[in-house]
Amino acid sequence: GIVNIDTIDGHQKEGLPKELRDELDKLEKQFTVTTEKLKEITKRFQEELEEGLKENGKNIAMFVTWVLGFPTGEEKGSFLTVDLGGTNLRVCWITLNGKTKDKEHDIVVKQDSYTMPGELKTGNASDLWSFIAQSLQKFIEKENLTATPNEPLPLGFTFSYPAIQDYIDQGVLQTWTKGFDIENVEGNDVASQLRSAISDFNLSIEIVAVINDTTGAMIASAYNDPDTIVGAIFGTGCNAAYMDKISNIPKLKGKEQIQNLSPDTPMAINCEYGAFDNARKVLPITRYDENIDADSPRPGEQAFEKLSAGLYLGEIFRLIILDMHDRNLFLKDQDITKLKEPYSIDTAFLSSLEDDSTDSLTQSSETFKSDFNLTFTEPELNFSRLLAHLIAIRGARLCACGVAAISRLTKTTTGHVAADGSVANKHPRFKKRWGQALGEILDWSGEDINKAVDETGAPIVITSAEDGSGVGAAVIAAMTLERWRKGHD
Ligand code: BGC
Ligand code: MG
Repeated sequence: GIVNIDTIDGHQKEGLPKELRDELDKLEKQFTVTTEKLKEITKRFQEELEEGLKENGKNIAMFVTWVLGFPTGEEKGSFLTVDLGGTNLRVCWITLNGKTKDKEHDIVVKQDSYTMPGELKTGNASDLWSFIAQSLQKFIEKENLTATPNEPLPLGFTFSYPAIQDYIDQGVLQTWTKGFDIENVEGNDVASQLRSAISDFNLSIEIVAVINDTTGAMIASAYNDPDTIVGAIFGTGCNAAYMDKISNIPKLKGKEQIQNLSPDTPMAINCEYGAFDNARKVLPITRYDENIDADSPRPGEQAFEKLSAGLYLGEIFRLIILDMHDRNLFLKDQDITKLKEPYSIDTAFLSSLEDDSTDSLTQSSETFKSDFNLTFTEPELNFSRLLAHLIAIRGARLCACGVAAISRLTKTTTGHVAADGSVANKHPRFKKRWGQALGEILDWSGEDINKAVDETGAPIVITSAEDGSGVGAAVIAAMTLERWRKGHD
């Protein structure tokens, strides 16, 4: 039979006092996504992927990235890369030396991280771009990189937000995601905004490519692993990239950029599927999800992401606990001031709660005490752990719908999904749950589903992506310079 890792521990549930058990039963109904529901979601998901290839719609965008094919593995050269993440800015100097005698890649990475001031995320454009340019300047000085006005340092810029690209070296931000809300960037080309900050700081840098983290993950992984079919991020946000053929992308028809390309030319697509079902037709949205959306900087957007990505999992948990407190079912007579702070529970805490193996969940109990000044009773701790399961299982199962839809769309039934992001990497059960759900949707045999749960040998396997925003950005920059050298756009 199939090893079902996803059932709630019945024994623990039975041990709860009746009022908590009833509450858990209700939540279990709301958060459980059956195989049938997963299939219904995937069907709609595939339709939205197809719609996005026809035009940049209001749900899944399916942005063309102008990364025209997988790398050969022979790409060479030295490149600057910069990755704008949620808390850090990561800058690298990456040298691709090609392959050694034993066919291993020789890659030298020098890197540094610069802490992003918290206010920057909700500040204004000029502060953002100055911060990035200044960090580049510090890095160049520290690493003693020399560039002349004639020979600027080539830069691959990882910008992991939805951006429309007419060319590889530009990208017009459509909307901020993941809690970012910086004025005067949406509707603008982020490359030209960064370019002018670079010139204000008198740096000799040429932006060669603007890339999404998913495309970076796919290309960095494909550089080593020819079985790569998708690059996916399961982190603060969620999204994936895959490779399609130009002839399968109706919205490119008649564009001058493809005039000299054969219809078989591969094109990396940044799906931006965090925006799946923004119309809210099939997703199992609870009122807690609705609250998160309403209080977010961009209500209505990223409907799928808000149910499944790391930024939101802890917040869903927090809202449920608060709601139960309001109804006098939880944390009676305790001072919940700290718990009232939005986004105060992160995904790392949820996963440590799920996997707490200490007697009586002492470890989690101590965290609730130290971080929130709350004393959880033993039933409250057990309830919390089961709730953490429910939220994480729903997230992982929904995440499987995205890759299932891509697999259906492209008729790809085998290969590696190169995954990165905090949820994929730090949540010990995510990959198993994701794999099991993928198998359910794609009607794999019980044997294959068990392989997915073992994380090896299934038809489509989730693998750990190579460094997308470093090596991936560098490889894409190398591919681009090579194309430019040949006289293409
Ligand atoms: C962004 C995507 C990104 C994903 C993962 C989403 O919020 O819109 O561009 O790939 O997060 O970082
Ligand atoms: Mg990132």
